[in-house]
Amino acid sequence: MAHLVKKQLGFRGGREGTLSLMGSLMLWLGLIGGIVTAFVGVVSRHVDTTACVISGIVIALNAIVANALLQGFAEVIRLLKKQDGMEYGGWIESAEPVHGYVCSKCGQSNDNDYLMCWNCKEIFDVEIRDNPD
Ligand SMILES: [Zn+2]
Repeated sequence: MAHLVKKQLGFRGGREGTLSLMGSLMLWLGLIGGIVTAFVGVVSRHVDTTACVISGIVIALNAIVANALLQGFAEVIRLLKKQDGMEYGGWIESAEPVHGYVCSKCGQSNDNDYLMCWNCKEIFDVEIRDNPD
């Protein structure tokens, strides 16, 4: 018969967790506030519609920027803690590689389905096509 074993799955909290949580909170509150402000501007006859819609957009954009900054600050703390060998809450985002196709003769980027380089007009050999992955 099996039983439950208490096991540490990860870490939570720390200053990085607070910053990340505040970023998410600001994002959602700002988006909701921006939508409500724009909605009130459109519906109500007592306020200037254009000013309310612009204010709503600015509020939402500020929330997006504040979230990006706070998430970035949290990630810097995580990276510093990881570098120092300390445990950290949350996760470190990893960048994903971006692949594309370039002409082997001139180096100009081309789409995968192009038969001829649009820069140097060289015909591509369709049999020899390196898969970037
Ligand atoms: Zn070319």
